[in-house]
Amino acid sequence: PIALELEGVTKRYAETTAVDDVSLAVREGEFFTLVGPSGCGKTTTLRLIAGFESPTTGTVRFGGEDVTGVPPEDRDVGVVFQNYALFPHMTVGENVAYGLNFADAPGGIPDERRVQELLELVDLGGMADREPDQLSGGQQQRVAIARALAPGPDVLLLDEPMSALDAQLRERLRLQVREIQRELGITTIYVTHDQEEALAISDRLAVMRAGRPEQVARPREIYRRP
Ligand code: ADP
Ligand code: ADP
Repeated sequence: PIALELEGVTKRYAETTAVDDVSLAVREGEFFTLVGPSGCGKTTTLRLIAGFESPTTGTVRFGGEDVTGVPPEDRDVGVVFQNYALFPHMTVGENVAYGLNFADAPGGIPDERRVQELLELVDLGGMADREPDQLSGGQQQRVAIARALAPGPDVLLLDEPMSALDAQLRERLRLQVREIQRELGITTIYVTHDQEEALAISDRLAVMRAGRPEQVARPREIYRRP
């Protein structure tokens, strides 16, 4: 089944066509990556899926339902940005609980238990009382992921979540992100400019160029261009 779909989506700014007539379908439970050089329209595509932007033309569908005009808080999406800083004055647990407060805890589980479950999911059980600045960059991004997952979204959107980390941390976080995604089976759209990362982490990827996907395929089917 298709989790989300763009049909003929274009986003124009004054002088730029950031996204140019894109049609894409992402399957349920899929880890789908948008990869390509800076300026090719990855972030704009993600923002259109999240609902932070509206398309100039075209349709966005979630589970077959047209959500084109629907605001982000009414789409079942969790978003993690590159510099989605945690709230520095809140503990790790409070940061995650903040995400929970956007939605009622599923099944009426008390917040504290749900926060603990989420922290364990991202391998940070026992860290609830830490301050964000006591954590590594990779740990902080995992807290941001836990916070994004707290309301129980159907779709997880990740925009360059590793870009601030050094190569070694990046590789570890990559494996952790993929493990979290598999454990939940959550449909995930991942944005990166790093082709190697995209090939390593994805079920399928769209190689973007000048506002549109020039290839959409599984990693082993992707051909490389100089
Ligand atoms: P990427 O994420 O691949 O780096 P973006 O989606 O951020 O690409 O940007 C695609 C193009 O659209 C770029 O030329 C960028 O400058 C332009 N763009 C993105 N957002 C805006 C905006 N809010 N106003 C004007 N131009 C924008
Ligand atoms: P990324 O690094 O992920 O490509 P950017 O740092 O380029 O993202 O863009 C960050 C924010 O600035 C986004 O909200 C994007 O829409 C906006 N933006 C990007 N390019 C422009 C632009 N030329 N004019 C106005 N806003 C822009």
